[in-house]
Order: sequence, then structure tokens, then C-alpha cells
Amino acid sequence: MAKIMMSKLMENTLQKSTIHGKADIFMLHSHADVDVVMKELIKYFGESDEREAIRLYVDGKYVGFLPRINLYGFVGTTYKGVDTSGYAVLPGSPNFHCIELQCPVGGCQFKMFVMHLDEDDLPMCPVHPDQTMEIKK
Ligand SMILES: [Zn+2]
Repeated sequence: MAKIMMSKLMENTLQKSTIHGKADIFMLHSHADVDVVMKELIKYFGESDEREAIRLYVDGKYVGFLPRINLYGFVGTTYKGVDTSGYAVLPGSPNFHCIELQCPVGGCQFKMFVMHLDEDDLPMCPVHPDQTMEIKK
């Protein structure tokens, strides 16, 4: 079930960016609990109106851009009553949250969100290929 839902999310991505600003990266897994992923994405977009889209990676492969509006369209058809308490209880991964990574270069502000993290193998900043991303404290 979760796998089908994840592919639905992937179907809502675009191959070309429709935004002008930068888009943060979300690294997800195809077997992820999509309910939890949706909660994280809704929270992410809810935190700032300037967040127009994310770049979605699944299992390390680039999938596409997921504009905010596509996510909300997806939520509208798949999750009825998204702003009710339905999201308060998420079976399976009660403590799950995406780990936020940031570039150490001042002013870069590039963000990356990952579901699992190997601290010995942190990703590099896409803007600064010689900089290892750091876990946001
Ligand atoms: Zn950077």
C-alpha cells in the first residue's frame, strides 16, 4: 500500500522546474510510509510561503520537482480532511521525521532533508561540491 502511494507522489512531480527560486532536496525511500512523508512535506511547505517546490529523490535517484500546488492537489484527492486530527496519529513510525541538513558555507542556506543518515557518509552540497552537508542543530 505504502509503495503504491509513494509512486502516486512521484507521478505528481514535474521534470522541469516551474519556479525561479532554489528548491530544497528531499531524499526519500520508496518503501517509506507515505503518510509520514506527506506530513513532513506539508509541514515543510507550511513553514514558509517562499518554499515553492522541492526536488524529490527516491532511493538516491532524482525523480523531479514537486511543486507545492501539486502536493496540495495530491492531498486533496487522496487525503480527505487533511487539516483534521487525522494526521495526529500516524501508525508505524511515531518518531519519524526528516533530518535537516545544511551547507556550512555562510549564506548558502541550501537545505537537504533525508530520511536516513549515515553520519560517516554525509552528502555534499549541490552548490558547493567540496562542502559536506551538516546536520542542522
Ligand atoms: Zn553550499
